[in-house]
This record gives sequence, structure tokens and C-alpha cells, in this order.
Amino acid sequence: MTRHVVIGTAGHVDHGKTALVKALTGIDTDRWAEEKRRGITIDIGFARLHLAGDLEASIVDVPGHEDFVRNMLAGATGVDVALLVVAADEGVMPQTREHLAILEFLSVKHGVIAITKADLAEPDWIELVEAEIGERLAESSIDWSSPIRVSALTGVGVEDLRAALAETCGRAEGRSKEDLFRLPVDRVFSVAGAGTVVTGTTWSGSVRVGDDVRVLPGELEARVRNVEVHGDSAEEALPGRRTALALAGLYRKDIARGHVVVAEDSWRETRAVDVIISLLPQSRPFTQRTRVRFHLGTAEVMARVTPEGEDIAPGTSGGARLRLEEPLVCRWGDLGVLRSYSPVTTIGGCVVVDPWPPARPRRPVGLAARASRDTAERLVALVESAGARGVAVADLPIRVGIPTGTLQQALASASERVVHANNRLLAMQVLAAARDATMTAVREYHQLHPLEPGMPRELARKTVRGVKLANFVQAQLVAERAIVLEGETVRLTSHQAGLTERQAEVGQALQTELAAAGPHGRTLVELGATANAETRQVVEYFVRQGTAVRVGADRYYDREALDRVSRTILQEVQRTGEAAPAQLREKTGLSRKYLIPLLEWMDTRSLTMRVGDSRRVGPAGEKALQALDRKSEESVS
Ligand code: GDP
Ligand code: MG
Repeated sequence: MTRHVVIGTAGHVDHGKTALVKALTGIDTDRWAEEKRRGITIDIGFARLHLAGDLEASIVDVPGHEDFVRNMLAGATGVDVALLVVAADEGVMPQTREHLAILEFLSVKHGVIAITKADLAEPDWIELVEAEIGERLAESSIDWSSPIRVSALTGVGVEDLRAALAETCGRAEGRSKEDLFRLPVDRVFSVAGAGTVVTGTTWSGSVRVGDDVRVLPGELEARVRNVEVHGDSAEEALPGRRTALALAGLYRKDIARGHVVVAEDSWRETRAVDVIISLLPQSRPFTQRTRVRFHLGTAEVMARVTPEGEDIAPGTSGGARLRLEEPLVCRWGDLGVLRSYSPVTTIGGCVVVDPWPPARPRRPVGLAARASRDTAERLVALVESAGARGVAVADLPIRVGIPTGTLQQALASASERVVHANNRLLAMQVLAAARDATMTAVREYHQLHPLEPGMPRELARKTVRGVKLANFVQAQLVAERAIVLEGETVRLTSHQAGLTERQAEVGQALQTELAAAGPHGRTLVELGATANAETRQVVEYFVRQGTAVRVGADRYYDREALDRVSRTILQEVQRTGEAAPAQLREKTGLSRKYLIPLLEWMDTRSLTMRVGDSRRVGPAGEKALQALDRKSEESVS
């Protein structure tokens, strides 16, 4: 399969970049009328370059004039190999340095140096120029090949340069397509028949003809009608390739350089970004609210800086939050360039460590850990900083910069320090704290209420921040058999409601008294609850145990005494078919005050049914009577 590489030119104005591209490819990238008139490259131009059997390059020719550095930036974004051009007669100039700094901030890995206009200078002079550029490149983070002298005029050195480009491009790494699709737009135009066409370098992922895409910021929807890769019609757009997409459903005016075409739902625009900034020595210090131009992808927005710690001094680096005056789209690991508001010069670069920082705290924290090159480490740092809220798994590819193809692997490598719950990730320490809080709360509840079967679940939930987390923790503890859920209560598996010695004494007395009270029962006051605070707890405990029964709001009966009197009532109702209260009063010897609440209690149990003031046998009453009949038959036989 053919490999595609993007080469980006860089260098001072008039040093021969465009002439060199033409010498290499035959293509004049100075496209616009104004460019022709002024004789300089204002906007980005493109040319195809065949390098070897299966190696194709697209050259992005950027403008060199200082007014157009922002266009240079839009073009330099997504470049695999830099072609730095220095004119033999002039040597290193201001934009040579600025472009070089930008290429370094954008982390371009490989570069080729061309000393152009070699026909205009003596070899001795060229050696001086090479020595000067060599000094600067010695401290560069980019891997540069040795300088090649060329002349676009005579053609000298052009073939050597082509060979050097082929060699360097052959070493450029490919990018995985198992990732989210993103294409920062650098040009937009209308083509008769194709509609709105956008171009750019596909940064990651892929889309196919017919796919739905979105344009951000602004959430416009469109469909891919046609794809071109490096100028050829294709089925699929792939990462690291110059790409043109014809988009159906969009007007030319809806979209501009700086927009991003994305496919997956997880992409969204942002108005704040946490970054690690590196400042050039000639920059001013970055203090709270310093206003800068932030270039990322093909976008340029104004931003205000909030340093993570102290001010960031020139020549040093530090964490900061950038508050953006307009939204843009970015991802962990994206590289940006910072230019001063006025005068407009490049003063630093930055790497995104959180595209969607939380609103609070307002000052970013812990950015160094978030910037770690170790995927598991930065994933853990993010999840731990999110506390009880956790982080949505769907957000990880963008917030931690994990290609979707390796997401599972990354989750596995962090599994000792984060847990996966309800499609979110939680820090193990957050989970451990929530588990402790739940266990402690339930244990303490048992100590305070030893007679109750357990703690109300709702109360247990409140000891943990977040209902989802609370439920997750409870379910986990149940699975481990540490706690038991019963209805709306939760208890330790080991908990058994029981009486203390003192309560047992109270209980003994209560049971004796309730038995003696027989069909009259006793209220809490009559049982002496005002004198003894534990009375209520103990008698409610008996109710749960089944040895006592509460009738109405406040009257307790001995279970057997209640059974006896309700049986008497039931049999009398059965005998007469329908019995009035007066009749039942006579039968039981109970006054209205005792009888009526008893009848109402029997009604609620369906033992009896109310008809006017009288009672008939209810469905549950029928069953109880049948059971009684069987019992007496058994005892007779
Ligand atoms: P750019 O601004 O870096 O793109 O520079 P251009 O490619 O537009 O070239 C600027 C001027 O230098 C033009 O007038 C070119 O004809 C001239 N030029 C470019 N390359 C050479 C070269 O190798 N030799 C000579 N003598 N002139 C050149
Ligand atoms: Mg040019």
C-alpha cells in the first residue's frame, strides 16, 4: 500500500521556498492573484511529490512573510517532515528562527535543510551560513539531516534534495486509523457539482464516502459526499494524509479555516484548556490574565492565562489554564503555539493536558502528572483528580489522548488504581473511602439501634457523595457478603438484632404485662414508656419478632391474647353471618373503646369486612376459620 507523508516548508520570506517546490514538483503553489501580484506566498499552497515506489508526499508550502505566520501555522500543523529553507546569500533571518521555533513547538520529528540560491554565493560564504544554522540546529528537538545546497535556477542539488526527502520521509512513522476522526480545516471552497469542499491534513482516524460528520465549533451536521487523498479520489480518508472532503448539507459560508471536521460523538468544543506552556527566552513572563493568541490545529483564538503556580518566566515552562474567548476543538497531547497579542510574535508553545478541565477549582492543579507520557499514569491522574464524579469512559480517548484502538489495553494497565463502574471510572481510593464510609455508618447505626434489623438504605446512601456511587458501593459490599440488603434497610451480615441484658429485663416485664392485659392491650404510656426510654424500642422489637402486635397507632397486644380475642370475634361473625358491634361487645366483654380499634385492625387484614357498622367474614377470615376447623378435627380424631 502506498505510504503518504506530509512535508511542510519553512523559512524566511524570499528565501526560495516556492521556487524550490516548483523545481521539485513542477507545481507553482503561489496560487492566488494577489500572490502573483505581490510575488509572495500569502496562503498555504500544496504540491504532490512522488518520492519512491510506494512513497508519496504532499508538500505544504507556507508563506514566509511575517504578516502571514498565522497561515504558516495553519499549514505546519499535521506536518510529518519539515523542509527548512535558508538562502545562501542571506543566511539565518528572523522568520527562519520563528518558523524553526514553531516546528519545534509542534513537535515535528524529522527535518531536511536546504541551502537555496547556492548559485548566488561563494562556497566559503555558504560554509559560514551552514555553520550558523548548524549551531542553532544542534540544540533543536527535531532530527535534522545535513544541509543540502541547491539552486532552483540551475537545478544543482535538486536530485540530492529529493533523495534526502525520500530517505527522511521513509523514516516518518505512520499513524493508526483505529482512532477518532479529526480533520482541522485549512481551506474551504465551492466546487460546481461537488458543493462545499474542505481541505486539511487528517490528524487521526478515518471517514468514508457516505459517513455522517459534524463541523465544530457550532455543531453543524454534514455527510461526506466525496473524498480525495493527496489529490486522488478515494473511498476513505486516512490519518497523516492531505485530504479534501466534499460535504453535503453545508454552505460555503458555514465553515472556515479553524473549524474541525469530526465523526464520533465524543468530540466537543471547549472554552478552557489546561496546558503545559514553554516560553521562549525573548518572551515576557506569563502572569495571571496575560492575553495571548493561541494557535491549535488551523484555529487561532485569543486566550487568557491562569498559571498553575507562580508566574511562568521566559525560557521556562509551567502549567496553566487557557480561558478561550472563542471555542475550539482539541485533545490531550495536541500541540499549540502561543503568540503575543501585540507585537505579534511567537513567544511559546504548549501541550494540551486537559481539553475539558472542570470549572472548579478555577486554578488548575496537578498538571505535571496529567502530562505524563505513560498512558496509565495520566489516566490515573485524571480519574483521581475527578473525585466522586469520576470520568466517563467515553471521554478518555479525548481527555487522555488514547487512540480508541488501545483504550481497552490502557484500562487494563490502570486497573489496580481505577475501577470501572456504570461506564465511568473511579479512583480506587475514592471507592475505598466510600466503602469505609458505608461500613462505618452501618456499624455505628447498629451500635445506636441494636434492636433494629438495619439502617435505612437512604440514610446509608447519604454517607457517600453521589447516589450512583453509593448504590455501586452497596451492591459491591452485598456481592462480597459484607452487608445484606433487606427491603429498604441495610445491615452488616454479622448483625443480629438482639436485646442487651438490661433490655431483656425490660422485655420480660413488658411481656408479662401484655399477657396480663389480654384483649385490652396496652398503650406506650400505660407500659411506662415515659419513665423508660427503652420501652418503645423493646416493644417494637417484639412486634418485629412477632410476639407482640401493634393495633392502631399506639396499642400493643400480646400475640396470643390478640389471636384469642380475634378468633372469638370471627367465630361469632361466622355464626350470625353478620354481627353488629353491640353483639360483639357482649360476646367479648370489651367496651367500644377497645372493640372498635380491634375490628378496624381486623378489617385491614381482611379477617372481617365492614358492612355499615356491622361485620362479615372477610377472605382472610374464611381461611383462618378453615384452619381452625382442621385443627379441631385433628384434635378430635
Ligand atoms: P519564498 O518567499 O521563500 O517562497 O521565495 P520564492 O520562491 O518566491 O523566491 C523568491 C525570489 O528568489 C524569486 O524571485 C525567485 O525567482 C528567487 N529564487 C528562488 N530560488 C532561487 C535560486 O535558487 N537561485 C536564484 N538565483 N534565485 C532564486
Ligand atoms: Mg513562497
